[in-house]
Amino acid sequence: MSVETAARTRHLDHFIDGEYSPSTSGERFETVNPATGQVLATVSLGTSQDVDRAVTAARTAFKTGPWPKMSARERGAILRKIGDLILERREQLAIAETMDTGKPINESFDGDIPRAALNFHFFADYASAAGEECFTVNQLERHLSVREPLGVAALITPWNLPLYLATWKLAPCLAMGNTCVLKPAEWTPYTATLLAQIAKQAGLPAGVLNVVHGFGAGGAGEALTKHPEVDCISFTGETSTGRAIMTAAAATLKKVSFELGGKGANLIFEDADLDEAVATSTRAAFRNQGEICLAGSRLFVHEKVFDQVVDALVKRVQRIVVGDPLDARTEMGALISKEQLEKVESYIKIGRKEGKLLTGGERLAEFADGNFLSPAVFTGISNSSKFCQEEIFGPALPVIPFKFEEEAIALANETPYGLSASLWSSDVNRCHRVSQQLKTGIVWVNCWFARDLRTPFGGQKSSGIGREGGRKSLEFFSEEKTICYRYKG
Ligand code: NAD
Repeated sequence: MSVETAARTRHLDHFIDGEYSPSTSGERFETVNPATGQVLATVSLGTSQDVDRAVTAARTAFKTGPWPKMSARERGAILRKIGDLILERREQLAIAETMDTGKPINESFDGDIPRAALNFHFFADYASAAGEECFTVNQLERHLSVREPLGVAALITPWNLPLYLATWKLAPCLAMGNTCVLKPAEWTPYTATLLAQIAKQAGLPAGVLNVVHGFGAGGAGEALTKHPEVDCISFTGETSTGRAIMTAAAATLKKVSFELGGKGANLIFEDADLDEAVATSTRAAFRNQGEICLAGSRLFVHEKVFDQVVDALVKRVQRIVVGDPLDARTEMGALISKEQLEKVESYIKIGRKEGKLLTGGERLAEFADGNFLSPAVFTGISNSSKFCQEEIFGPALPVIPFKFEEEAIALANETPYGLSASLWSSDVNRCHRVSQQLKTGIVWVNCWFARDLRTPFGGQKSSGIGREGGRKSLEFFSEEKTICYRYKG
C-alpha cells in the first residue's frame, strides 16, 4: 500500500465467521488521521447485534470447529504463517498504523509491526513447547494437571500500540486453542482489519478470529463484556475502563486480565552514567508522543546532579524532531485526537501554574490541522500535584529533585499506579535495594523498555490484574484441570 492509496478514504468492515461484514444497522463512524485531521476511513459501527453475531461465530467454531482439537504444533504452524505474512506486508501495515495513530513511521516499521509478527512467532513455538504437570502419589496413583482451551475470549485493546497489543493477546489466545472476538480501539481500527485477512490467508479456520469495530461504553465493547457466551476478557486500556468492565463482567463471572494505566517513575541517582540516563529518560518520556503506559512520566533526580541533568535533558528534548509521521526523520508525531491534545494541554496549564515550563508545550503552527504538541519539560511541580498523580499519556514531563534514597523510593511509590519504574545508578547494592522496594510490576535497572516475551508483564495497584507474557499468557487463556488416575496394579 502506498501512502497515496492509504490516504484515499476507504471503508473498514467487521470480520465475522471468516468474512468481512457490515454492521447489521448499516451505521458507520470515521477514523481520522491525527496528523492531518482528514478522514482516513469509514468504519462499520458495531452494536450488540454485531457482537452477538461475532460471539456466536466464535462459539460455533469452538464447539464444532477443528481449532481447539488441533495439536499445539498444528496451531503453531498457522500462527507462524500469520507472523510471516505480517512481515511480508510490513510496509503496508506500518503505513496504515502510522496514518491511524499519528506515530512516526520508523516506530511502526521498526517497532510495532515486527513486534506483532514476533508475538505470533514466539507463541507458536512457546505453546507447543509448554508441558503439563504430573504428580506421582505412589506407584498406583498419579495426578495429571492438564490445560484445556478456555472457550470464547473477548480481546479489548487500546489505540496507542494497536497491532502490537492486539497480537500480544491474540497469539497466546489462539495458541491455546481458543476462539475470540477482538474489539480494537475506535480510534485505530485499521491494522486489526488487515490482520483478519492475513489470518484467513494463513489458514486460520472461519470463526476463530472475529473483529468487531465500535465504541466502548454503551457500544460493542460493553456488549462483549456482558455477553453470556464470552468466557474471558483480556483488556488493555485505562484504569477507569477496567473498573467498568469488571462491574459489567461480574454478572456472568468472566475470567479477567487487565493491563491498565501507568505513571512510571524514573530515578536518577548521583552515581549514574548521566549521559546514558538522560538519553534513555528522554526516550522513556517522549517515545510514541508519551502515549505509552510504560512511559517514564515522572523523573526524580538526585539534588547533586539535578541542574546538570535538567540542562542536558532540555537540550536533548529540544532536538526531538516533531512533525509529519510519514517522514522517516520524524521522532515524535501527532497525538491520537483533538480530545487527547486538549487533555494534555489542560495538564500543561496546571504545570505552568504550579511549576516552571522549561521547554515545549506548544502546538505546532506549521501543522495546524494535526494534533501536534512540542515535548514539554517542567520543574517545580510537587509529586502530589494532579500533574504527577494522574496519567497524562502525552509529552509532558515533570522533573523533581530528591536528597535521600528512601525519599526517592517514597516519591516513586506515591501514586495509585504501579506498572513500571526505572532506576539509574552504578552501585549494584543500591540497585538491588531500591528495585526491591518499588511497588511496580516491572523495574528496569539502568535501562528502559527492555522486554523478553517469556517474562511476566503487568501492573501492581491500579495498573492491572494478572500478568501477560510467556507462561502467564498461556495460563490465562486456558482452563486447568486435575485428572487423578488410580491403577489396579
Ligand atoms: P480506553 O480504556 O479508553 O479504551 C481501551 C479499549 O476499551 C477501547 O477498545 C475502548 O473502546 C474499550 N472500552 C472503553 N470503555 C469500555 C467499556 N465500558 N466496556 C468495554 N470496552 C470499553 O483506553 P485507551 O484510551 O484506548 O488507551 C490508553 C490507556 O491504555 C492508558 O491508560 C494506558 O496506560 C493504557 N495502556 C496500558 C497498557 C498496559 O500494558 N498496562 C498498554 C497500553 C495502554
